[in-house]
Amino acid sequence: MIRCPVCRARNKGESVCRRCLSDLTDILTVEAQADFAMTRAFQNLQDGNIAQAKKQCAHACRMKRTEFGEIFSAFLDDCVLP
Ligand SMILES: [Zn+2]
Repeated sequence: MIRCPVCRARNKGESVCRRCLSDLTDILTVEAQADFAMTRAFQNLQDGNIAQAKKQCAHACRMKRTEFGEIFSAFLDDCVLP
């Protein structure tokens, strides 16, 4: 869920803000790309590629900052590179 950057109304994925009618397509696209990058980070970790997991996690966090992303990033920082 995002908030409209114009009026701060909550948005559950609609491409147009229900309150101020701002176009939120670009924001939703970036959010989806961030989610995809975080999923790739999980896959990289599962495959044992910690360096790539860190890279994908950092990429995701640049696009969408979340508490989970920060915790996952700190976890990856504590992982030992092979
Ligand atoms: Zn709005």
